[in-house]
Amino acid sequence: MQANIEKELQTNKFSQMDDTIKAKDRIIAWPRMGRIDIPLKALLLTLGAKVVIPPANSNEVLELGVKNSIEGICLPYKLNLANYIMALENGANTLMMFQAPGSCRLGNYTKMAQKTLKKMGYEFDMVIFDMYKSKMKQTLQAFWHVTRCINPFKYYKAFSLGFNKFFAIDEAEKQMFYYRPRELRKGEAERYYNKWLKIIDGTNTIIGAKSLVKKIRKDFKNIEIDRKKDIPVVYLLGEFFVLLDPYTNQNIEKVLGEMGIEVQRQIMFSGWLEHVLKPSFFYKKESHRERCVRYAKEYMKRAIGGECIETIGDTVYAAKNGIDGVIHLMPFSCMPEIVSQNILSKVSKNEDIPILSLVLDEQTGKTGYVTRVEAFVDLVKRKRVRKEHPQAERIKL
Ligand code: SF4
Repeated sequence: MQANIEKELQTNKFSQMDDTIKAKDRIIAWPRMGRIDIPLKALLLTLGAKVVIPPANSNEVLELGVKNSIEGICLPYKLNLANYIMALENGANTLMMFQAPGSCRLGNYTKMAQKTLKKMGYEFDMVIFDMYKSKMKQTLQAFWHVTRCINPFKYYKAFSLGFNKFFAIDEAEKQMFYYRPRELRKGEAERYYNKWLKIIDGTNTIIGAKSLVKKIRKDFKNIEIDRKKDIPVVYLLGEFFVLLDPYTNQNIEKVLGEMGIEVQRQIMFSGWLEHVLKPSFFYKKESHRERCVRYAKEYMKRAIGGECIETIGDTVYAAKNGIDGVIHLMPFSCMPEIVSQNILSKVSKNEDIPILSLVLDEQTGKTGYVTRVEAFVDLVKRKRVRKEHPQAERIKL
């Protein structure tokens, strides 16, 4: 039985990669993006792997990425490359990488990053997760390739811990988005969020991990809020990486929350992970992506890569469901989101919803960026007053 499993696993595409590094000698690293380090670390450690976690994204990390990247390449690539360099410098010899097809250049990043790092003299094995092919079986094969673990219970525990930690982090984030604009004591929602990140990171039993979401919901209810305050709701949409990485999006969720806006994000890591890994026959209801395709129909006939169709579909959905505005985040030179940006002006007019597109790169200054967000928030609030009290707003004007 064991021999069969090994034979089956050895025929997978990951075995074509560098097999000279023995499992016991592997030290694994992956790019930083938000807090995915917490669940991925739990998953890999449970399978017996050693990991290196590069420092969180910062100006220094970006500088290193810019220095070693070609001009015009998008922001996520620069940060990912710097994460790899730092991880390799700290002893990593196995790098995990995601790739995707379509007009998103992520499809070419793996080769580009590999070439650049080899040229810099690093020796490593790169394990690729193709996001449109890597369903559960291929994902297991990738983890087997780097750990050689064949104990089914360890896989069960690793994936239970990893998945439940992803769900818990997303839940803590959602709660923070809701409570931050309403809290009576400034900064309390964020303190709760940080407290829960520590608890999630320190949870190492399956039962404990499974109970996290419920406990988080219950605990956030202790935050005292102003129930009478009128809070507009804004969707944050756009490219996956900038949405999920607070350094890259200049912590826009916090900026908006402190301006009295409830942020909602349709793209959450756990939802995406479930969609990518879960076989489609497990889906009883329409997935987020399917809903986006349906709502985007009038503006786009097919997905072109990246999150383009999600951006359009979610904006139409927001307009039809009473959301007050949309902020669209895109890295400079991101092809799928350049397409979205062009379509969004039509969507905004047709669907009557305010949209602000923010382009992010290493030159983006916080002051100019916040000024644009402030002006947008003002517009959203005025529109809301006009909708609810048309007479009062006319008199004020
Ligand atoms: S979606 Fe855009 S920013 Fe993201 S990796 Fe692809 S091209 Fe780069």
